[in-house]
Amino acid sequence: MIKFYILTLFPDMIIQGLHTSIIGRAVERGYISIEAIDIREYSKDKHFRVDDYPYGGGAGMVMQAAPVYQAYRALKERIGKKVRVIYMTPQGSVLSQKMVREFSQEEELIFLCGHYEGIDERALELIVTDTLSIGDYVLTGGELPAMVTIDAISRLVPGVLNNDVSAEFESFHDNLLEYPQYTRPEEYMGKRVPEILLSGHHANIEKWRREQAIIRTLERRPDLLEQACLTEKEQKFLEELKIKKKKDE
Ligand code: SAM
Repeated sequence: MIKFYILTLFPDMIIQGLHTSIIGRAVERGYISIEAIDIREYSKDKHFRVDDYPYGGGAGMVMQAAPVYQAYRALKERIGKKVRVIYMTPQGSVLSQKMVREFSQEEELIFLCGHYEGIDERALELIVTDTLSIGDYVLTGGELPAMVTIDAISRLVPGVLNNDVSAEFESFHDNLLEYPQYTRPEEYMGKRVPEILLSGHHANIEKWRREQAIIRTLERRPDLLEQACLTEKEQKFLEELKIKKKKDE
C-alpha cells in the first residue's frame, strides 16, 4: 500500500486523471490511495491568489513560497512523519524504471506540482527532497508529470496488476525492451503470428522472446544494452547480430 499526496493548484485534474481503469480500481481496492491537496486553500490573499511577478523582471508569474510551504506543513503534521517530497520539474533527474522501482518501496510520497514559471526557490529549498523530470521538454504544469510517475509506481505495488508477472517481464526488465506481443486471430491481413508462439513449447518460446527482446533493443535503444543482463549465449547472439548489422550497413 502506498499513499500518494499531490500538492497542486488543480486537484480536479489529478482526481479525474487517476480514478479510471487500472489505477482507479487499485484505489477502490485499497492497494494505493491518492489525495490531491489544493495549494490555493493555503493562500492568505482575500482573492486566493497564489502567484506574483518574478523579482528581477521577466515573463510569466511565479507561485509564491508561503501557500506552498503552508500546504506542505499542514500535510506533514497530518501524516505525522517526514516523507519524501518530489518536485516535478524539467530541471530534475529524468524518470527511469529504476527510479520507479525505488519509489515503489516507499509507504508515502508527496508530489509537488508547479505551474506558470514555477515555484519560489525558497519554498523548494525548505521542503523538496527529490527533483524529477519526465523528459527534456517543458509542460504547462507538474500535474501530468506527477500522474505519469504515480501510474508507473502504482503498477509495481503488489495486487495492482491482476497478473503480477506482467510487471516483472516487460520493457526495461534486465535493461531490455519487451519482445513483440500477439493475440487472436492467428492471421490478420495476411500476417501470421510467429509459428513458435503456437507451438506450446515453453522453453523454445522463452528463448525466442529473449532473442526478440535483444534484437528489438539493438534496433531501438542500443544504449540500454551496455547495462543489459545477458547470459553468455545471449551475449554471443548479440555480438553476431552486431556483426550482421555492420555488414548490412
Ligand atoms: N520556468 C521553468 C523552467 O524553465 O525550468 C518551467 C516551468 S513549467 C512552465 C511549469 C511547471 O510545469 C514546473 O514548475 C513543473 O512543475 C512542471 N513541468 C514542466 N515540464 C516538466 C517536465 N518535463 N517534467 C516535470 N515537470 C515539468
